[in-house]
Amino acid sequence: MSHPLEPIVALQKKDRRLIKLMREIRDIPKRKSDIEAQLAGSTQKLNMARDSKKHTEVSLKDLELEVESLNERIIKYKQQQMDANTNEQYRAFVKEIGAVEREIGGLEDKEIVLMEALEKGTLIVAECEAKLNGEKEGIADELGELDERSVELSEMLEQMKAGRMRSAEQCDQVILKKYTRIMNNKRDFAVVMVEAGGHCGGCHMKLPPQVINDARNPTKIVGCNFCGRILYNPPQ
Ligand SMILES: [Zn+2]
Repeated sequence: MSHPLEPIVALQKKDRRLIKLMREIRDIPKRKSDIEAQLAGSTQKLNMARDSKKHTEVSLKDLELEVESLNERIIKYKQQQMDANTNEQYRAFVKEIGAVEREIGGLEDKEIVLMEALEKGTLIVAECEAKLNGEKEGIADELGELDERSVELSEMLEQMKAGRMRSAEQCDQVILKKYTRIMNNKRDFAVVMVEAGGHCGGCHMKLPPQVINDARNPTKIVGCNFCGRILYNPPQ
């Protein structure tokens, strides 16, 4: 007669494949969110580069306006200078105009620094944009593949569940109950082989000779004294 553990061992093989499959399905959303987080990081970098460039542009514009208003002041001084009645008044305007011109010189130095920063900022923005666009393309492919994989795995899961149900029907229901309880607890194997040398195939502890013999007997179902997994010792 065939051993009642044989259909259980076949069922266990299916269950292990099911567990692996369900794990892969479960991990897909995490893999997608990891990919999306990477994209969010690059988007944030681009936004920061754009903000920084904008800030430089605004500062430069402010400087230009300031220089413009100082130039207007010089024009006004020069008009007033022409209307000066005394040498003293005239010299006072020369002095004022000189001071404003020096102020303009200082601002123009600052403008040069800001223009260089703007050039650099423009370059950084372009680099960030190129990086982000490259990533977007790659990520769209990756996300698409993961979605496809998810559909594929879900279909496989349904088929495997149906196959599992058929296998379970062929098992001794009392042993199946015991198997299910141990499987839920151990999460790797519920039925293990007696290994060469008389060790448990689950916890690898040395088994008593009586247990090793009973594990071969189709009328007896024995558990490992140490880990509680069902032992099977099929005739070679
Ligand atoms: Zn054991």
